[in-house]
Amino acid sequence: MKINSIDMQFHQTGNFREQLAVLYMDGIYANTHVKVIRSYISVGLPGSVGFDNNDNGWGSTEMWNKVDNMIEKEGVCGVFHTHPTGFDTFSSLDWQTMIAFAKTYGKRYLWYGIQEVSSNHEQWVCLNMLSHKVFRYHFDFNSSVNDKVLLLPLPPRVKVYEDCFDISM
Ligand SMILES: [Zn+2]
Repeated sequence: MKINSIDMQFHQTGNFREQLAVLYMDGIYANTHVKVIRSYISVGLPGSVGFDNNDNGWGSTEMWNKVDNMIEKEGVCGVFHTHPTGFDTFSSLDWQTMIAFAKTYGKRYLWYGIQEVSSNHEQWVCLNMLSHKVFRYHFDFNSSVNDKVLLLPLPPRVKVYEDCFDISM
């Protein structure tokens, strides 16, 4: 596991480039949270936020294959990326990407976060699939994009019955 810090030179006005990090699972904390280590692995092209364009910096197919491989083999349990100032919510592409993630990994929990770099407010979704439905658990907290260790809440426990979803908080 190689832990890379964020590179603030890519967050200067006029030179903004989104940075993508992976989250390494580092254990369960107090039965309520997962402890993850955040490592930045790629930088987007200037002004580019796309995931599905083949020449799009960290949105490239090659990069997502790499992330897939890290999830399968290196204990990565999610991704995080920075947003420019003024973009403090998930983009439509973010929603599409996280749904695709959930469908790929099924029951396994995956975390997907964003943060506008000028704020200390991180927004997260924890995803998994049950009974052919994607579940998205939303949460947020205050933290810095520089923080390497994060405690992310585990979602409520959901059991699927024939005609209902039973949720324990
Ligand atoms: Zn985004």
